[in-house]
Amino acid sequence: MNRAETLQEQAEAICSGHEVVEDDSSADVIVVRACSVTARAEKDCRKFINRLKENYPKSDVRVVGCLPGMPRKTKEEKVSLPSKAPSSTARAYLKVQDGCGGKCTFCIVPQFRGESVSVSLSAVKKLAEQFAEIGYYEFVVTGCNLSMYKSEGVGLGGLIDTLAKEYGDKRIRLSSYEPCICDDELLDAFVENKNICRFLHVSLQSASDYVLERMKRPYNSAEIDEFISSFRKRLGNYAMLGCDVICGFPGEREEDFKATREFLERHNFVNVHAFPYSERPGTPAAEMADVVLRDVRHERVRILLDDAAKRKERFFESFVGKEVEVCVEKSGEESRGWSSEYIPCVIKKNVPRKTLYKGIVKEMTSGELIID
Ligand code: SF4
Repeated sequence: MNRAETLQEQAEAICSGHEVVEDDSSADVIVVRACSVTARAEKDCRKFINRLKENYPKSDVRVVGCLPGMPRKTKEEKVSLPSKAPSSTARAYLKVQDGCGGKCTFCIVPQFRGESVSVSLSAVKKLAEQFAEIGYYEFVVTGCNLSMYKSEGVGLGGLIDTLAKEYGDKRIRLSSYEPCICDDELLDAFVENKNICRFLHVSLQSASDYVLERMKRPYNSAEIDEFISSFRKRLGNYAMLGCDVICGFPGEREEDFKATREFLERHNFVNVHAFPYSERPGTPAAEMADVVLRDVRHERVRILLDDAAKRKERFFESFVGKEVEVCVEKSGEESRGWSSEYIPCVIKKNVPRKTLYKGIVKEMTSGELIID
């Protein structure tokens, strides 16, 4: 979402006569998009901003995004991306929603971004049209809590179905998805449209009922199990599953961690972002008792990442001999890009950037699929 917002701000700056420069020292204005999701992120951002101010005293340093004490930009329901937008990657980030009305006890986001607001379906379509004109080949649909998307009677499933049908020659990818209940409309869209990327990254956090309850997540283990089982059944074993997991949330016992570990193994989660729980001041969880020792949090992260690395190797290997479609980001003697399943690919020839290339996987080396 940060990338989507940055892209839009760059486009607005260009259209109001500014030039986007890579080198900070020649910038009149430096815009920092700050993050406050953890106390650590906030500290790092403040340090970074102070360093910029010291190093570039003549530049006007402006802070946007989530940081306490900084003015927040009013949310606008309508977005537009002028066609002069910078296009340094083959993938365009399409922000369709902001905010979240959730009550998760570890999360500060609702305090910064407020209730959920969706970009209207017609505005999203207009934005996609502009991205297509600029020459993007993949639209990454992004938001603060995508499962809350609602506009003109259409939910997230309807939205990606519309985009996939309207742009049959492009790919549609979902960024991180906050699961709520088994969303059949979403799964129908995946099944009906082959140009929706075979990749789903869910903000799982835990698969233990005890922990989910303490986190106040909007689902229990049986509901998330039903949703993921349905995803696997309908999309098959070659679709990539990813997730975010918090290890060592207050009260997380060995048996809770085991339940999460087994869940990831059972459904073959390959792309696992596991984080040690970190207290975020201002959230209910930061005040909870039953704190888990830091060493234990880190050890649990290590175990999940080790498991995931093994699954990833097996999963990537299973693509050898299969045809994949690559959205080419970098051209040269070797061209590089991402498959629909979000696997890094190397094509052993010069293929134009910003195209979709189909080829057979010859081998898998160092975590990349090699295509002739
Ligand atoms: S659903 Fe996601 S964004 Fe909303 S409160 Fe929970 S963790 Fe935060």
